[in-house]
Amino acid sequence: MNKNNNRYRITAFALFTILLIINNSIVIAQQQGKTITAESVKPHIVELADDKYEGRGAGYPGEENAAGYIAKQFKKAGLKPYGDQAGKKRSWFQEFDFQVMHPLKPWEIFKSRNIIGLIEGNDPILKNEFVVIGAHYDGQGRKGQADPMRFLSKDSSSINDEIWNSANDNATSIAAIIEIANAFKEGKIKTKRSILLIAFGAEEHGMTGSIYYVNHPVFPLKDHVAMINLEKLGRLTGKTFNTIGNANSLVWDEIIKAIQTQTTTKVVMTSPYVIPDSDHYPFNGVRIPAIVFYTTGFAAHYPDDHSDKIDFNRVAEAANFVMQMVTALADRSQRPLYVPAPIPDLGLSAHLATNAEADAMGLKAPDGGLKVTGVIAGLPGAIGGLQPGDLIIGFANSKFIRDEPLESLQKKHMDALMGKQGNKLKTTVIRNGKTEVLELSLR
Ligand SMILES: [Zn+2]
Repeated sequence: MNKNNNRYRITAFALFTILLIINNSIVIAQQQGKTITAESVKPHIVELADDKYEGRGAGYPGEENAAGYIAKQFKKAGLKPYGDQAGKKRSWFQEFDFQVMHPLKPWEIFKSRNIIGLIEGNDPILKNEFVVIGAHYDGQGRKGQADPMRFLSKDSSSINDEIWNSANDNATSIAAIIEIANAFKEGKIKTKRSILLIAFGAEEHGMTGSIYYVNHPVFPLKDHVAMINLEKLGRLTGKTFNTIGNANSLVWDEIIKAIQTQTTTKVVMTSPYVIPDSDHYPFNGVRIPAIVFYTTGFAAHYPDDHSDKIDFNRVAEAANFVMQMVTALADRSQRPLYVPAPIPDLGLSAHLATNAEADAMGLKAPDGGLKVTGVIAGLPGAIGGLQPGDLIIGFANSKFIRDEPLESLQKKHMDALMGKQGNKLKTTVIRNGKTEVLELSLR
Protein backbone atom coordinates (compact mmCIF):
# COMPACT_ATOMS: atom_id res chain seq x y z
CA MET A 1 0.00 0.00 0.00
CA ASN A 2 1.57 3.26 -1.05
CA LYS A 3 0.30 6.24 0.88
CA ASN A 4 2.74 8.41 -0.92
CA ASN A 5 1.06 8.91 -4.27
CA ASN A 6 0.76 12.64 -3.90
CA ARG A 7 4.21 13.80 -4.74
CA TYR A 8 4.69 17.30 -3.50
CA ARG A 9 7.59 19.09 -5.13
CA ILE A 10 8.96 21.55 -2.67
CA THR A 11 12.46 22.91 -2.71
CA ALA A 12 14.49 21.82 0.25
CA PHE A 13 15.07 24.47 2.82
CA ALA A 14 17.55 24.85 5.63
CA LEU A 15 15.09 26.15 8.16
CA PHE A 16 13.07 24.04 10.50
CA THR A 17 9.40 24.02 9.87
CA ILE A 18 7.37 23.77 13.00
CA LEU A 19 3.83 22.60 12.64
CA LEU A 20 1.36 24.11 15.01
CA ILE A 21 -1.90 22.30 14.84
CA ILE A 22 -4.57 24.52 16.27
CA ASN A 23 -8.25 23.58 16.30
CA ASN A 24 -7.70 21.05 13.53
CA SER A 25 -6.29 23.64 11.17
CA ILE A 26 -2.62 23.34 10.55
CA VAL A 27 -0.58 26.48 10.86
CA ILE A 28 2.92 26.16 9.57
CA ALA A 29 5.49 28.36 11.17
CA GLN A 30 9.12 28.49 10.20
CA GLN A 31 11.68 28.82 12.91
CA GLN A 32 15.38 29.31 12.64
CA GLY A 33 17.07 26.20 13.94
CA LYS A 34 19.95 23.84 13.51
CA THR A 35 19.45 21.38 10.68
CA ILE A 36 20.75 17.93 11.54
CA THR A 37 23.46 16.96 9.05
CA ALA A 38 25.43 13.90 7.96
CA GLU A 39 28.46 15.48 9.66
CA SER A 40 26.65 15.79 12.98
CA VAL A 41 25.28 12.20 13.14
CA LYS A 42 28.38 10.46 11.79
CA PRO A 43 30.72 10.68 14.83
CA HIS A 44 28.16 8.97 17.11
CA ILE A 45 27.65 6.08 14.70
CA VAL A 46 31.37 5.60 14.06
CA GLU A 47 31.98 5.70 17.82
CA LEU A 48 29.23 3.28 18.90
CA ALA A 49 30.04 0.84 16.08
CA ASP A 50 33.73 0.82 16.98
CA ASP A 51 35.23 -2.53 17.99
CA LYS A 52 35.94 -1.12 21.46
CA TYR A 53 32.20 -1.48 22.25
CA GLU A 54 32.29 -5.12 21.06
CA GLY A 55 29.01 -4.83 19.19
CA ARG A 56 27.17 -3.68 22.39
CA GLY A 57 25.80 -7.11 23.30
CA ALA A 58 23.23 -6.61 26.09
CA GLY A 59 24.55 -7.37 29.57
CA TYR A 60 28.22 -7.21 28.51
CA PRO A 61 30.74 -4.38 29.19
CA GLY A 62 30.41 -3.06 25.60
CA GLU A 63 26.74 -2.24 26.18
CA GLU A 64 27.48 -0.60 29.54
CA ASN A 65 30.27 1.52 28.02
CA ALA A 66 27.93 2.56 25.20
CA ALA A 67 25.39 3.63 27.86
CA GLY A 68 28.11 5.84 29.37
CA TYR A 69 28.80 7.45 25.98
CA ILE A 70 25.08 8.14 25.39
CA ALA A 71 24.62 9.64 28.88
CA LYS A 72 27.58 11.95 28.20
CA GLN A 73 25.99 13.08 24.92
CA PHE A 74 22.59 13.60 26.61
CA LYS A 75 24.30 15.77 29.23
CA LYS A 76 26.11 17.83 26.57
CA ALA A 77 22.79 18.37 24.80
CA GLY A 78 21.37 19.89 27.98
CA LEU A 79 18.88 17.13 28.82
CA LYS A 80 17.81 16.56 32.43
CA PRO A 81 18.65 13.09 33.74
CA TYR A 82 15.53 11.05 34.55
CA GLY A 83 16.87 7.61 35.46
CA ASP A 84 16.94 5.95 38.89
CA GLN A 85 17.04 8.07 42.01
CA ALA A 86 20.63 8.36 43.25
CA GLY A 87 20.43 10.08 46.65
CA LYS A 88 18.67 13.42 46.10
CA LYS A 89 19.46 13.46 42.39
CA ARG A 90 18.44 11.31 39.49
CA SER A 91 21.00 9.35 37.50
CA TRP A 92 20.89 8.95 33.70
CA PHE A 93 20.38 5.21 34.05
CA GLN A 94 17.35 3.06 34.78
CA GLU A 95 18.81 -0.35 35.65
CA PHE A 96 17.02 -3.66 35.28
CA ASP A 97 17.67 -7.40 35.24
CA PHE A 98 16.63 -9.42 32.22
CA GLN A 99 16.17 -13.01 31.10
CA VAL A 100 18.83 -13.66 28.46
CA MET A 101 17.70 -14.99 25.08
CA HIS A 102 19.84 -18.03 24.17
CA PRO A 103 22.11 -17.77 27.23
CA LEU A 104 25.41 -19.65 27.44
CA LYS A 105 24.35 -20.99 30.85
CA PRO A 106 20.68 -22.04 31.06
CA TRP A 107 18.39 -19.43 32.65
CA GLU A 108 21.16 -16.90 33.16
CA ILE A 109 20.03 -13.40 34.20
CA PHE A 110 21.95 -10.27 33.12
CA LYS A 111 21.80 -6.59 33.98
CA SER A 112 21.17 -3.76 31.52
CA ARG A 113 20.01 -0.15 31.66
CA ASN A 114 17.91 2.43 29.84
CA ILE A 115 19.27 5.98 29.52
CA ILE A 116 16.60 8.63 30.10
CA GLY A 117 16.75 12.39 29.47
CA LEU A 118 14.11 15.12 29.52
CA ILE A 119 13.46 18.38 27.66
CA GLU A 120 10.90 20.31 29.70
CA GLY A 121 7.94 21.89 27.93
CA ASN A 122 7.07 25.56 28.41
CA ASP A 123 3.29 25.43 28.80
CA PRO A 124 2.35 25.48 32.50
CA ILE A 125 -0.22 22.70 32.05
CA LEU A 126 0.86 20.76 28.97
CA LYS A 127 4.46 20.40 30.22
CA ASN A 128 3.10 17.67 32.49
CA GLU A 129 2.44 15.57 29.38
CA PHE A 130 5.23 13.75 27.57
CA VAL A 131 6.10 12.81 24.01
CA VAL A 132 8.56 9.91 23.99
CA ILE A 133 11.25 9.38 21.38
CA GLY A 134 13.18 6.15 21.81
CA ALA A 135 15.58 3.68 20.22
CA HIS A 136 17.56 0.70 21.44
CA TYR A 137 21.33 1.00 21.72
CA ASP A 138 22.26 -2.64 22.35
CA GLY A 139 23.53 -4.67 19.43
CA GLN A 140 24.59 -8.14 18.35
CA GLY A 141 27.75 -8.41 20.43
CA ARG A 142 30.79 -10.57 19.80
CA LYS A 143 31.45 -14.23 19.22
CA GLY A 144 31.04 -16.32 22.36
CA GLN A 145 28.39 -14.01 23.86
CA ALA A 146 24.71 -14.82 24.32
CA ASP A 147 22.99 -13.37 21.30
CA PRO A 148 19.69 -14.09 19.56
CA MET A 149 20.62 -13.12 16.01
CA ARG A 150 24.03 -14.75 15.89
CA PHE A 151 22.47 -17.91 17.27
CA LEU A 152 19.97 -17.94 14.41
CA SER A 153 22.37 -16.93 11.65
CA LYS A 154 23.12 -19.40 8.88
CA ASP A 155 25.38 -16.85 7.20
CA SER A 156 28.94 -18.18 6.86
CA SER A 157 30.52 -14.71 7.12
CA SER A 158 29.19 -14.58 10.69
CA ILE A 159 31.70 -17.25 11.68
CA ASN A 160 34.63 -15.13 10.57
CA ASP A 161 33.46 -11.80 11.90
CA GLU A 162 34.25 -11.82 15.60
CA ILE A 163 32.29 -8.61 16.36
CA TRP A 164 28.94 -7.67 14.84
CA ASN A 165 29.23 -3.91 15.18
CA SER A 166 25.53 -3.08 14.86
CA ALA A 167 25.98 0.29 13.15
CA ASN A 168 22.66 0.42 11.30
CA ASP A 169 20.89 -1.60 14.00
CA ASN A 170 20.84 0.66 15.90
CA ALA A 171 23.66 3.18 16.40
CA THR A 172 22.05 5.18 13.57
CA SER A 173 18.88 5.80 15.61
CA ILE A 174 20.81 6.70 18.77
CA ALA A 175 22.79 9.24 16.72
CA ALA A 176 19.47 10.65 15.45
CA ILE A 177 18.14 11.03 19.01
CA ILE A 178 21.33 12.69 20.27
CA GLU A 179 21.28 15.15 17.37
CA ILE A 180 17.56 15.88 17.81
CA ALA A 181 18.39 16.82 21.41
CA ASN A 182 21.23 19.04 20.18
CA ALA A 183 18.97 20.67 17.59
CA PHE A 184 16.44 21.58 20.29
CA LYS A 185 19.21 23.09 22.39
CA GLU A 186 21.08 24.99 19.68
CA GLY A 187 17.89 26.21 17.97
CA LYS A 188 16.50 27.27 21.39
CA ILE A 189 13.32 25.49 20.32
CA LYS A 190 10.63 25.27 22.98
CA THR A 191 7.54 23.08 22.85
CA LYS A 192 4.42 23.08 25.01
CA ARG A 193 4.67 19.46 26.12
CA SER A 194 7.82 17.89 27.51
CA ILE A 195 9.91 15.47 25.47
CA LEU A 196 11.33 12.31 26.99
CA LEU A 197 14.31 10.76 25.18
CA ILE A 198 15.04 7.12 26.00
CA ALA A 199 17.86 4.87 24.78
CA PHE A 200 16.67 1.33 25.57
CA GLY A 201 18.93 -1.54 26.65
CA ALA A 202 18.47 -5.24 25.86
CA GLU A 203 15.95 -4.81 23.03
CA GLU A 204 17.51 -7.76 21.25
CA HIS A 205 16.50 -9.95 24.20
CA GLY A 206 12.75 -9.54 23.85
CA MET A 207 12.37 -5.75 24.22
CA THR A 208 13.21 -6.10 27.92
CA GLY A 209 14.31 -2.44 28.33
CA SER A 210 11.11 -0.91 26.97
CA ILE A 211 8.91 -3.45 28.78
CA TYR A 212 10.74 -2.53 31.98
CA TYR A 213 10.12 1.15 31.27
CA VAL A 214 6.32 0.84 30.82
CA ASN A 215 6.22 -1.25 34.01
CA HIS A 216 8.36 1.39 35.81
CA PRO A 217 7.63 4.71 34.06
CA VAL A 218 9.33 7.85 35.42
CA PHE A 219 6.07 9.83 35.03
CA PRO A 220 2.50 8.48 35.26
CA LEU A 221 1.81 6.37 32.16
CA LYS A 222 -1.43 8.27 31.49
CA ASP A 223 0.63 11.42 30.88
CA HIS A 224 2.65 9.82 28.05
CA VAL A 225 0.79 11.07 24.97
CA ALA A 226 2.70 9.43 22.09
CA MET A 227 5.84 7.44 21.34
CA ILE A 228 8.09 7.22 18.27
CA ASN A 229 10.60 4.36 18.12
CA LEU A 230 13.51 4.56 15.68
CA GLU A 231 15.16 1.56 14.01
CA LYS A 232 17.87 1.12 11.39
CA LEU A 233 17.93 4.52 9.70
CA GLY A 234 21.10 4.33 7.63
CA ARG A 235 20.80 1.89 4.73
CA LEU A 236 18.72 1.35 1.58
CA THR A 237 19.61 4.69 -0.02
CA GLY A 238 16.91 5.90 -2.42
CA LYS A 239 14.11 3.88 -0.78
CA THR A 240 11.30 5.39 1.29
CA PHE A 241 11.28 5.49 5.07
CA ASN A 242 8.65 3.25 6.65
CA THR A 243 6.32 3.21 9.63
CA ILE A 244 4.41 0.42 11.37
CA GLY A 245 1.47 0.94 13.71
CA ASN A 246 -0.28 4.04 12.31
CA ALA A 247 -3.73 2.56 13.05
CA ASN A 248 -3.32 3.19 16.80
CA SER A 249 -4.00 6.90 16.28
CA LEU A 250 -5.29 9.19 13.54
CA VAL A 251 -2.51 11.59 14.52
CA TRP A 252 0.18 9.65 12.64
CA ASP A 253 -1.23 10.07 9.15
CA GLU A 254 -2.19 13.64 9.96
CA ILE A 255 1.28 14.79 10.98
CA ILE A 256 3.21 12.66 8.47
CA LYS A 257 1.11 14.04 5.59
CA ALA A 258 1.47 17.61 6.85
CA ILE A 259 5.25 17.36 7.18
CA GLN A 260 5.58 15.68 3.78
CA THR A 261 4.10 18.76 2.12
CA GLN A 262 7.15 20.65 3.38
CA THR A 263 9.96 18.19 2.64
CA THR A 264 11.07 15.82 -0.10
CA THR A 265 11.34 12.96 2.44
CA LYS A 266 9.08 10.02 1.57
CA VAL A 267 7.49 8.08 4.42
CA VAL A 268 5.27 5.06 3.75
CA MET A 269 3.24 2.92 6.16
CA THR A 270 4.23 -0.76 5.90
CA SER A 271 1.62 -2.16 8.25
CA PRO A 272 -1.19 -0.52 10.29
CA TYR A 273 -0.87 -2.73 13.39
CA VAL A 274 1.93 -3.03 15.92
CA ILE A 275 3.55 -6.45 16.36
CA PRO A 276 5.98 -7.33 19.15
CA ASP A 277 9.17 -6.67 17.21
CA SER A 278 10.71 -3.56 18.79
CA ASP A 279 10.47 -0.98 21.57
CA HIS A 280 7.24 0.75 20.46
CA TYR A 281 5.37 -2.51 21.19
CA PRO A 282 5.07 -2.14 25.01
CA PHE A 283 3.91 1.49 24.66
CA ASN A 284 1.16 0.46 22.25
CA GLY A 285 0.29 -2.33 24.70
CA VAL A 286 -0.45 0.22 27.46
CA ARG A 287 -2.59 2.29 25.07
CA ILE A 288 -0.13 5.00 24.13
CA PRO A 289 -0.17 5.85 20.40
CA ALA A 290 3.19 4.41 19.27
CA ILE A 291 4.87 3.69 15.95
CA VAL A 292 8.24 2.62 14.65
CA PHE A 293 10.03 4.75 12.03
CA TYR A 294 12.63 2.64 10.20
CA THR A 295 14.27 1.57 6.96
CA THR A 296 15.33 -2.04 6.55
CA GLY A 297 13.00 -4.71 7.85
CA PHE A 298 14.05 -8.02 9.30
CA ALA A 299 16.64 -8.86 6.66
CA ALA A 300 19.28 -6.57 8.15
CA HIS A 301 22.88 -7.36 7.31
CA TYR A 302 24.12 -8.29 10.73
CA PRO A 303 27.66 -9.58 10.26
CA ASP A 304 28.63 -6.70 7.95
CA ASP A 305 26.72 -4.01 9.86
CA HIS A 306 29.73 -1.67 9.98
CA SER A 307 29.76 2.13 10.00
CA ASP A 308 31.40 2.30 6.55
CA LYS A 309 28.17 0.89 5.08
CA ILE A 310 26.06 3.71 6.52
CA ASP A 311 24.52 6.50 4.46
CA PHE A 312 24.92 9.35 6.97
CA ASN A 313 22.84 11.75 4.86
CA ARG A 314 19.96 9.35 5.14
CA VAL A 315 20.24 9.18 8.94
CA ALA A 316 20.23 13.00 9.05
CA GLU A 317 17.20 13.14 6.74
CA ALA A 318 15.29 10.75 9.05
CA ALA A 319 16.33 12.72 12.14
CA ASN A 320 15.08 16.03 10.65
CA PHE A 321 11.75 14.45 9.74
CA VAL A 322 11.29 12.81 13.15
CA MET A 323 12.21 16.08 14.89
CA GLN A 324 9.28 17.72 13.08
CA MET A 325 7.00 14.86 14.11
CA VAL A 326 8.03 15.20 17.75
CA THR A 327 7.55 18.98 17.64
CA ALA A 328 4.11 18.65 16.07
CA LEU A 329 3.05 16.14 18.75
CA ALA A 330 4.44 18.28 21.55
CA ASP A 331 2.71 21.46 20.35
CA ARG A 332 -0.64 20.02 19.27
CA SER A 333 -3.51 21.51 21.29
CA GLN A 334 -5.29 18.17 21.81
CA ARG A 335 -3.45 15.03 22.85
CA PRO A 336 -3.81 12.22 20.28
CA LEU A 337 -6.51 9.62 20.89
CA TYR A 338 -5.55 5.95 21.09
CA VAL A 339 -7.43 3.54 18.82
CA PRO A 340 -7.23 -0.11 19.99
CA ALA A 341 -6.43 -2.87 17.48
CA PRO A 342 -9.16 -5.42 16.65
CA ILE A 343 -6.95 -8.33 17.77
CA PRO A 344 -6.19 -8.67 21.51
CA ASP A 345 -2.65 -8.43 22.85
CA LEU A 346 -1.43 -10.70 25.67
CA GLY A 347 1.37 -8.25 26.49
CA LEU A 348 4.06 -10.89 26.42
CA SER A 349 7.53 -11.41 25.09
CA ALA A 350 8.42 -15.10 24.80
CA HIS A 351 10.49 -17.34 22.54
CA LEU A 352 11.53 -20.97 22.23
CA ALA A 353 13.81 -22.01 25.10
CA THR A 354 17.17 -23.55 24.22
CA ASN A 355 17.54 -27.32 24.56
CA ALA A 356 19.78 -26.84 27.59
CA GLU A 357 17.07 -24.70 29.23
CA ALA A 358 14.39 -27.30 28.48
CA ASP A 359 16.68 -30.02 29.91
CA ALA A 360 17.32 -27.95 33.03
CA MET A 361 13.56 -27.77 33.61
CA GLY A 362 13.28 -31.55 33.38
CA LEU A 363 11.69 -31.79 29.92
CA LYS A 364 12.49 -34.84 27.78
CA ALA A 365 13.25 -34.30 24.06
CA PRO A 366 11.44 -33.51 21.82
CA ASP A 367 9.29 -31.62 24.38
CA GLY A 368 10.13 -27.93 24.52
CA GLY A 369 8.64 -24.71 25.76
CA LEU A 370 8.41 -20.98 25.45
CA LYS A 371 10.61 -18.94 27.74
CA VAL A 372 8.94 -15.75 28.97
CA THR A 373 11.33 -12.76 28.92
CA GLY A 374 8.85 -9.92 29.45
CA VAL A 375 5.32 -9.31 30.76
CA ILE A 376 3.54 -5.94 30.43
CA ALA A 377 1.64 -4.96 33.60
CA GLY A 378 -2.13 -4.68 33.16
CA LEU A 379 -2.37 -6.92 30.09
CA PRO A 380 -3.82 -10.47 29.99
CA GLY A 381 -0.45 -12.27 30.41
CA ALA A 382 0.38 -10.34 33.59
CA ILE A 383 -3.19 -10.44 34.92
CA GLY A 384 -3.21 -14.22 34.42
CA GLY A 385 -0.04 -14.45 36.52
CA LEU A 386 2.75 -15.03 33.97
CA GLN A 387 6.22 -13.88 35.03
CA PRO A 388 9.56 -13.44 33.28
CA GLY A 389 11.49 -16.70 33.67
CA ASP A 390 8.42 -18.93 33.33
CA LEU A 391 8.68 -21.80 30.85
CA ILE A 392 5.34 -22.19 29.06
CA ILE A 393 4.88 -25.87 28.22
CA GLY A 394 1.16 -25.77 27.38
CA PHE A 395 -0.81 -22.94 25.81
CA ALA A 396 -4.43 -23.01 24.61
CA ASN A 397 -4.47 -26.77 23.88
CA SER A 398 -1.01 -26.65 22.25
CA LYS A 399 2.29 -28.11 23.36
CA PHE A 400 5.70 -27.14 21.99
CA ILE A 401 8.60 -29.09 20.56
CA ARG A 402 12.29 -28.19 20.49
CA ASP A 403 13.41 -26.40 17.32
CA GLU A 404 9.78 -25.77 16.40
CA PRO A 405 9.65 -23.50 13.33
CA LEU A 406 8.71 -19.88 13.92
CA GLU A 407 5.70 -20.12 11.57
CA SER A 408 4.23 -22.92 13.66
CA LEU A 409 4.67 -20.89 16.88
CA GLN A 410 3.13 -17.85 15.24
CA LYS A 411 0.14 -19.86 14.02
CA LYS A 412 -0.55 -21.21 17.52
CA HIS A 413 -0.29 -17.70 18.95
CA MET A 414 -2.50 -16.16 16.24
CA ASP A 415 -5.18 -18.89 16.47
CA ALA A 416 -5.38 -18.34 20.22
CA LEU A 417 -5.62 -14.55 19.85
CA MET A 418 -8.39 -14.92 17.26
CA GLY A 419 -10.39 -16.81 19.90
CA LYS A 420 -10.23 -20.21 18.17
CA GLN A 421 -9.53 -21.86 21.55
CA GLY A 422 -12.12 -19.79 23.41
CA ASN A 423 -11.73 -16.67 25.53
CA LYS A 424 -9.92 -18.33 28.42
CA LEU A 425 -6.52 -19.73 27.48
CA LYS A 426 -5.30 -22.46 29.80
CA THR A 427 -1.55 -21.97 30.16
CA THR A 428 0.78 -24.45 31.88
CA VAL A 429 4.15 -23.18 33.09
CA ILE A 430 7.15 -24.55 34.93
CA ARG A 431 8.28 -22.06 37.58
CA ASN A 432 11.00 -22.79 40.15
CA GLY A 433 10.78 -26.48 39.26
CA LYS A 434 7.00 -26.65 39.89
CA THR A 435 4.23 -26.96 37.32
CA GLU A 436 1.45 -24.38 37.58
CA VAL A 437 -1.70 -23.93 35.54
CA LEU A 438 -2.75 -20.33 34.77
CA GLU A 439 -5.67 -18.90 32.85
CA LEU A 440 -5.24 -15.96 30.47
CA SER A 441 -8.43 -14.09 29.58
CA LEU A 442 -8.74 -12.51 26.15
CA ARG A 443 -10.37 -9.10 26.43
ZN1 LIG B 1 16.91 -3.01 16.08
